[in-house]
This record gives sequence, C-alpha cells and structure tokens, in this order.
Amino acid sequence: MRFQLFAIAVLLLLESPSISAILLPNISSIPPGFLPNVTAPAWDSFKKFLGCRPGEKFNGLAKIKQYFHYFGYIPNSPSNFTDDFDDVLESALRTYQQNFNLKVTGELDQQTLNKIVQPRCGNADIINGTTTMNSGKWTAFNTTSPFHTVGHYSFFPGNPPPRWPDSKRDLTYSFWPGNGLTDQDKSVFTRAFARWSTVIPMTFTETDSFNSDIRIGFFSGDHGDGEPFDGVLGTLAHAFSPPSGLLHLDSEEEWVVSGDVSTSSILSAVDLESVVVHEIGHLLGLGHSSIEEAIMYPSISSRTRKVELAQDDIEGIQKLYGKNPNYNGSSPLTPAIQERETNGGQYVHSLPSWLLISLLMPVGFFSLLF
Ligand SMILES: [Zn+2]
Ligand SMILES: [Zn+2]
Repeated sequence: MRFQLFAIAVLLLLESPSISAILLPNISSIPPGFLPNVTAPAWDSFKKFLGCRPGEKFNGLAKIKQYFHYFGYIPNSPSNFTDDFDDVLESALRTYQQNFNLKVTGELDQQTLNKIVQPRCGNADIINGTTTMNSGKWTAFNTTSPFHTVGHYSFFPGNPPPRWPDSKRDLTYSFWPGNGLTDQDKSVFTRAFARWSTVIPMTFTETDSFNSDIRIGFFSGDHGDGEPFDGVLGTLAHAFSPPSGLLHLDSEEEWVVSGDVSTSSILSAVDLESVVVHEIGHLLGLGHSSIEEAIMYPSISSRTRKVELAQDDIEGIQKLYGKNPNYNGSSPLTPAIQERETNGGQYVHSLPSWLLISLLMPVGFFSLLF
C-alpha cells in the first residue's frame, strides 16, 4: 500500500507539467543536500580553449564555432564544423572582440574567454549578416561618415526597422498559464514594463487571455521555436522582434524574484527583473548594444542586478516611439517603482521545481507514512 501510494506520487510528479513554479520563502533554511545538484554552467567547458591560436587544431573547438554561429558571428552553417582554428573562427573572434570592446587579437585569450562564458541573452548579435553593435558601426564609420557620431543602440534589421505600428501604443501582455506564476512573480514584469513606459508613450497592461500582444513563458530546452534553451546559465532568455510579442525565459535558471541577488547562496542565481527589462527592449524593437552599462548589452553575470535604463537605451527606444510627454529626462526613471527591500536574496523562484519537489516530496511522504 505504501509503495503504491509512493508510486502514485511519483507518477503524478512525472506527469505534472515540468514547468511549474514554486517559491522558496527562505532558501537558506533548506539543507544544502536538498538544493538542486546544478551541473556545470553551459559554456564552462570553453575555458579549456585558453591560448588556442589560429592554425592550430584543438579537440572540441567545433563547439565554439557553433556558439559563434548561434550568435550570428559565423553566418553560414556547414553541416559539420571542424576542430581547426581556421580563418572563419579568427574572423568571428575579431568581430566579437570589437562588439564587446575587447582588445582585438583574433585569439582565444583570457579576456575573450571570460566574456564568452558569461551568461547572456539568446538573441543573436548579428542578424542576417548585419551587425549593429560596434563592429557594424566601425564599418560605417570608416566608409561613409567619418565625423558622424553614432549611438551604440541598435534595431532589428529592416528598412524601416520593425516596431509596433502607430495604432498599437497600449499593449497587452499575458503569461503562459502552464507556468502558474504568482502575483509576486508577475509584479517583476510589471516593474520591468514600467521602466520602458516611463520614457516612451506606450502602456502595458496584463490580461488573462494568452491571446495578448505580448506572450511570456518559461520553457526549457527545445520549446518549438527553433531556439532551444541550454540549462543552467548559458542563454537565459530570448525575445522576438515586433510585432511577434514572444518573450521566453529558460525555466532551468535559478531565477531570483525578490531580494538582493548578489548575496544569494546560489552561485548561478539570475536576477529575473534584470533579464526581463532587457528582453522587453527586444520586444519593442531594440537590438544589442556595445555599451556595457546599457540594458541592451547582451550579457550579464549571475548574481548581478541591472535594471535601470541607460541613456543609450533611452535614446534608442525614443528613436522608435518618441518621448513620453511626462518624461523630462532628468528625473529618476522609475519614481513610482519601489525597490522591494531586501531579504538577502532569499526569494528564489526556482522553476526547475520538479527537481526540488522530487527531492523534497518523498521526504514529506515518508514522514507521513512512518
Ligand atoms: Zn538580448
Ligand atoms: Zn523561445
């Protein structure tokens, strides 16, 4: 009987949607043995390529070519990438180094590898061969308008670049019901949207119908749009250009919903609001920026909070939609937003909840039975 009950419980666990949400009110009170056994962050293995130089061959180097292909630095995908450090890889590295303001060496040096392994947005830096970050601007700088100062924000490719039409200034958003988010989880998104609506004449309103302009969901691995997530760290989220309205977050991250993420006991903890503010920029039409302070910079370290729009972000988004008449450019960007006072990063919205449930639930079960 006990075994049957336990088997039923296990079956229920296996059959319940793998993406549900649990909030751990105080994760530090959970014995370390019950914390998820986190595998190595997605790109940690790239660290072994330190010092690889053009002309050499190194076991596994094809993986770093796939990385550069994914983010747009190697445009054409051969059926198989080789492990040779060839011209294609060197050229990708040089462009990447320009985009991230690194010393342009064309080599896998320490500064470059440190940047490559940092968690980041899954959106490409170069789309259809068009780079709008530094490297593209340098080309424009050299060939067309040497004295013209360009901003560092960018848009998705297109002429004109894609944006929400004039008839759409009051957008609705909704959450994929399968995630079962709480009001507290949803409030993170409310705050993130408010940071953008403060500076442009647009509003964002939550609706219950998943038929809204913007549809938000946490998913893991391959989730049907050709852009699979990769587990802990690596790519964190992605969002599609207007007017698609899709914002996807990797449900396998340790998302911190509230509190000071920098003090989280989980090294791979990611601040949800920081990532959501960035992805909303994409939903509205912004591409990546080379300015490290900008929200639209592609990468963010774990246990880091970055939620304030930088001047670069504001200039970019106002170029697309104009200025919010109530925004005077000098007042604090989000006067109505109260930062939640910290409880030491204790609130972790741990979406790989099946893992935690499967660890914790049998314990509860057995204590009930015995
Ligand atoms: Zn991005
Ligand atoms: Zn997706």
